[in-house]
Amino acid sequence: MIDQHLQAMLLAHREKFLIPASMVATVNVTNSLDHAFLILTKNQYAKIVVVDNDNHFWGLISLAMIANRLIETEKINVNNLHKYHVADVMQTDAPTITDPFDVEENLHLLIDQSFLTVVDHDNYFRGIVTRRELLKAVNYTVHRFDHFYDVHEKEEN
Ligand code: AMP
Repeated sequence: MIDQHLQAMLLAHREKFLIPASMVATVNVTNSLDHAFLILTKNQYAKIVVVDNDNHFWGLISLAMIANRLIETEKINVNNLHKYHVADVMQTDAPTITDPFDVEENLHLLIDQSFLTVVDHDNYFRGIVTRRELLKAVNYTVHRFDHFYDVHEKEEN
């Protein structure tokens, strides 16, 4: 459990936590790999969210996943960019969250992911929580804690 005072400070700027879906670059599950390649390269993101026409979450796709599909025994076949679709290479086991403000869960999950996908109970894509925003909250907390609280060391038993 996170101490309630630390939790309050981590959530001081909670409005920054959720980057809403309308601000997040995505690709459609039916898009060809060349379209996904373009979106990833233009936005300079390592990995992005895959949705369907109704904005339901399907998975994540990265340049590495696309590159892997281009590799054949002794060459790189760029024709595979139009031959295959996002659904053929995307990652479907990435964790999702429903509560962008559950700092405890998000801190654990963001150790291994650079961002977390936020969905509602119908798997509708709501946005992302990034490691960067949570680290900003941690940075604020560790630098400002003594501004709000007096800390006393416990006596040794
Ligand atoms: P950051 O912590 O801001 O560097 O973001 C970490 C990762 O989250 C990026 O590499 C992207 O994969 C993803 N990301 C952040 N912001 C966006 C966005 N606006 N649209 C799509 N993906 C994003």
